[in-house]
Amino acid sequence: MIITKPRDWARIIQNLESIGARSVFLMGCGQCATVAHTGGEKELVETAGRLTAAGYEVTGWTVGEVTCHLNGTKLDARKHRDEIDGADAVLVLACGAGVQTTADAIAKPVFPGLESLFLGTVVRNGVFEERCQTCGDCVLDMTAGICPVTTCPKGLLNGPCGGMWNGMCEVLTDRECTHVRIQRRLTEQGRGLGGTLAPKDFSTALKPGGVNIRDRVTHRRAGDREGAR
Ligand code: SF4
Ligand code: SF4
Repeated sequence: MIITKPRDWARIIQNLESIGARSVFLMGCGQCATVAHTGGEKELVETAGRLTAAGYEVTGWTVGEVTCHLNGTKLDARKHRDEIDGADAVLVLACGAGVQTTADAIAKPVFPGLESLFLGTVVRNGVFEERCQTCGDCVLDMTAGICPVTTCPKGLLNGPCGGMWNGMCEVLTDRECTHVRIQRRLTEQGRGLGGTLAPKDFSTALKPGGVNIRDRVTHRRAGDREGAR
């Protein structure tokens, strides 16, 4: 899931002031931002209270089911048309994809209410760890399901580095070295080390990504005759 944190409040106010907004509609997200405790119902009510205390009118709010889903967000916007029409701006408590989807769905100035941090795992309630950088050339098949690109602070594919000490990481000293974990899990699974990983093809991580499930084309590249986004 996408891990988010609240955006600096002064920056949110600055954004609203930049267009002279006095009234705001709030949009949250029922998926990642709700699980991250940053953009669910509770956080929207708190934000509404904060804005009201700061002298803004909150015309309404909604927690989109999946705010990064364009059709769903358009539908939500239609349901709240009057409240949105009555607002000078829309503040979105969702990840960057959710903010952009809302901006596509609503013809009002839309501002982010959160900072998007990383694609991560919910280790337990309220504890999140980054696990994937969406590199487009996954090596988890070779690394026992542990991503060295993301979880080794140096991003080393083949390790450990010379700084590993007693199995612990030299950078994040409270964590076991990623490569020690990989080797242990491979051994436990009787798989052994699969050899040295070849340099990755980072061109597969070309941005912006796009997928069309009909033909699974992920990027249109210079020179491609066919390609879908
Ligand atoms: S190898 Fe790439 S795709 Fe696979 S988990 Fe790591 S960053 Fe994500
Ligand atoms: S000790 Fe291991 S996890 Fe830490 S930076 Fe070196 S190789 Fe990466």
